[in-house]
Amino acid sequence: MSNPPAPAFDRRDALVLLGSAGLAMMAAKANAQPANDAHNAPDLSSVFGWDAAKGEYTLPKLPYPHDALEPHLDKATMEIHHSKHHQAYVSGLNKALAELKKARDAADFTLVKHWSREIAFHGGGHVNHCLFWATMAPPGPGVGGEPTGDLAAAITRDFGSFDAFSKHFQAAAAAVEGSGWAWLVHDHVARRLMIQQMEKQQNLLVTMVTPLLGCDVWEHAYYLRYQNKRADYVKAWMNVINWPVVEKMYAHIAG
Ligand code: MN
Repeated sequence: MSNPPAPAFDRRDALVLLGSAGLAMMAAKANAQPANDAHNAPDLSSVFGWDAAKGEYTLPKLPYPHDALEPHLDKATMEIHHSKHHQAYVSGLNKALAELKKARDAADFTLVKHWSREIAFHGGGHVNHCLFWATMAPPGPGVGGEPTGDLAAAITRDFGSFDAFSKHFQAAAAAVEGSGWAWLVHDHVARRLMIQQMEKQQNLLVTMVTPLLGCDVWEHAYYLRYQNKRADYVKAWMNVINWPVVEKMYAHIAG
């Protein structure tokens, strides 16, 4: 076997640039393994679709079929969202990283601001969607409804009640101006939960927090079924939250 070509950039460097990377990693791990197996090295390559031979990201596989979240999220939307929109972020991230490699090789950083912004947007889109897929699941035990255990206690402590959290989260999601996300995050300074909005794939979320759960409110996430009724989509989306995964991520971060 010949040695694979050297990647165009170091994977660890790339992951540092990807704000939610660690969370998506843990989400996939929580899906796949028991909580007490937390210290084993996670399989970053499959979570982020990293192809070491090519030195590029590829689109990770959905952890369930396209129609698995019906009737809340329809098959056509899921198929287009994953295979077209998420793929576009993966391609955009690879393009930006490759262009910055060229810039280093040529010692020409004329466009460094442009390509850095492209990494933030497309890299953000990539990891946001990795986390999005991992924190949803087909309706079943633990899915939708309310969380349990430490996360449930923290939600009551920091929002007053699950109902108050749910109303706040849905209002934040419905009110994102333009395209973006609502996130349940953990504030590492105050050590408490917060709800924040994100515009596009990267703006507004402050850096001392780690995302736990996000609702994608770009029109591509809901328009086929819900048209302009974003609030109806967000309410339906609450039914496919994979709370056991979110609980395990919370334990990793805040425990
Ligand atoms: Mn999306």
